[in-house]
Amino acid sequence: MITRMSHLFVKTLRDDPADAEVPSHRWLVRAGYIRRVAPGIYSWLPLGLKVLHNVERIVREEMDAIGAQEVHFPALLPREPYEATGRWTEYGPNLFRLKDRKGADMLLGPTHEEMFTLMVKDLYSSYKDLPLSLYQIQTKYRDEARPRAGILRGREFVMKDSYSFDIDDAGLEASYQRHREAYIRIFDRLGLEYVIVKADAGAMGGSASEEFLAVADNGEDTFVRSPGGYAANVEAVTVPAPAAVPFDDAPAAHVEDTPDSPTIESLVALVNARFPRADRAWTGADTLKNVLFMLRHPDGRREPVAVGLPGDREVDVKRLETAVAPAEVEPFGDADFEASPGLVKGYIGPGALGEKASSGVRYLCDPRVVTGTRWITGADEPGRHVLDLVCGRDFTPDGVIDVAEVREGDPAPDGSGPLTLARGIEMGHIFQLGRKYADALGLQVLDQSGRLVTVTMGSYGVGVSRAVAAVAENTVDEKGLCWPRELAPFDVMVLATGKDVAVFDAAERLASDLDEAGIGVLFDDRKASPGVKFTDAELLGIPTTVVVGRGLADGLVEVRDRRSGMAESVPVADALAHLVRVVRG
Ligand code: ATP
Ligand code: MG
Repeated sequence: MITRMSHLFVKTLRDDPADAEVPSHRWLVRAGYIRRVAPGIYSWLPLGLKVLHNVERIVREEMDAIGAQEVHFPALLPREPYEATGRWTEYGPNLFRLKDRKGADMLLGPTHEEMFTLMVKDLYSSYKDLPLSLYQIQTKYRDEARPRAGILRGREFVMKDSYSFDIDDAGLEASYQRHREAYIRIFDRLGLEYVIVKADAGAMGGSASEEFLAVADNGEDTFVRSPGGYAANVEAVTVPAPAAVPFDDAPAAHVEDTPDSPTIESLVALVNARFPRADRAWTGADTLKNVLFMLRHPDGRREPVAVGLPGDREVDVKRLETAVAPAEVEPFGDADFEASPGLVKGYIGPGALGEKASSGVRYLCDPRVVTGTRWITGADEPGRHVLDLVCGRDFTPDGVIDVAEVREGDPAPDGSGPLTLARGIEMGHIFQLGRKYADALGLQVLDQSGRLVTVTMGSYGVGVSRAVAAVAENTVDEKGLCWPRELAPFDVMVLATGKDVAVFDAAERLASDLDEAGIGVLFDDRKASPGVKFTDAELLGIPTTVVVGRGLADGLVEVRDRRSGMAESVPVADALAHLVRVVRG
């Protein structure tokens, strides 16, 4: 059946939605693909649903091709399995929780490691059953702190999640590589410009983990690359700790008045003028900046922490959030300062922090703060700083935290050259989970010698609904959406212009011929002006448009390519064959 614009459930909009932050969101709403129901919660209209199904088809084909089997779990789940792994608590406010009529705790699944582990435990008991990979394409729920950009970061969204089960580490490595290759094929087919980067495994636990990021200026993730091939999400960049420095010759620490030096620059200028260093000038990197945060743990406990880092760098909040997860980061407010009298705002020094201090603030320092390094920092009194404060002699941090901003030109941790920074959208994430879930839930099988061994697992996600937005983001132009053919809701849009009955008849014939040839066709049969039809055709982003209009008198139709904007006249008699060639490549 050919789909007619006059019947299609779509209403294109001339104005941007008020809450649109990024082009993909603006155009998906204006072209009538999605509608907002509540923050981070969207409905799919016919055109959008077709694109979503196209993404699902690609994902399904590539998962099937590596031998993964499709299953489907409920989204509504009991608390107990998530309690057993600790995630009922760890997920904190991100988990949608509810109670059934008997008062039992339930949740809406944010991801399904627990359920898959239990299903396999239920049915399998021998090494002969493994390896096994299962997947589902399913709706997930996360009460995101910052739902954003339409379906890019939803609170309800569609994910493909798969899980591998192996008897040993070599098996897990092989399953992981098979998934990695399937992901490469998926993202190639989606037509995305993407990078594979080292990732932080975050709340999932486990070890090896990589992300597939679509390169996009307004992506939420920042990644780094080096000329030597290092690539990582900034969240996963680890700064190597320099070797300890001998400090026998370092002068004793001394507290000095440092009036009118509220910024690092003014402080550095003042100490260079009044307390010059013998060997070289002081720089911003010699100051130790102590920044306070309040951590909120999943159980609701609040814990103050101080992050000590070279004063020429800021704390990267995303790196901090990753480092302290599942705790969440809150600002350290005035009330928190009042509650800790030892902390002098702007002049916080290790006197009030660290092992010997009584402030109760955990003091975590950047990896560059190693034994023997000499610092200028707050003296815990207004208007005063302490100089030549030596780490390991004058203060001892409670631990290391690697959360300083990563900067363009910083050395790659593996020595492969200076880093460049870019932004991306996380499209997929593959993890070697190891035995965390199998241990917690008791997934064991008998090995060849009849011993019970714990199964090792991988978990692999693709943001299916996010992919719709990410591809849109990658391809939109100033006129609207512009789908790659594999994702487009239709291959060809047939557009009849004018009022001439012969034109409409010819357009209808062409549309039904295309339909019979198995080509997805949308027929704009509306009694609207050509201007409206052209604008809508561009907005909807169907890859090919055929205009049947005035040229028909000369036996010609016009074939337009949405991406290049190129148009060519084709004899109406050849139009079908021509379009089949265009569509099938
Ligand atoms: P993010 O860092 O973007 O919050 P995540 O690391 O929490 O994502 P995973 O748990 O790795 O996400 O989920 C697998 C995939 O699901 C992600 O790579 C992403 O493509 C998609 N995804 C995650 N959260 C959302 C969301 N809120 N809306 C849409 N897609 C999402
Ligand atoms: Mg992830």
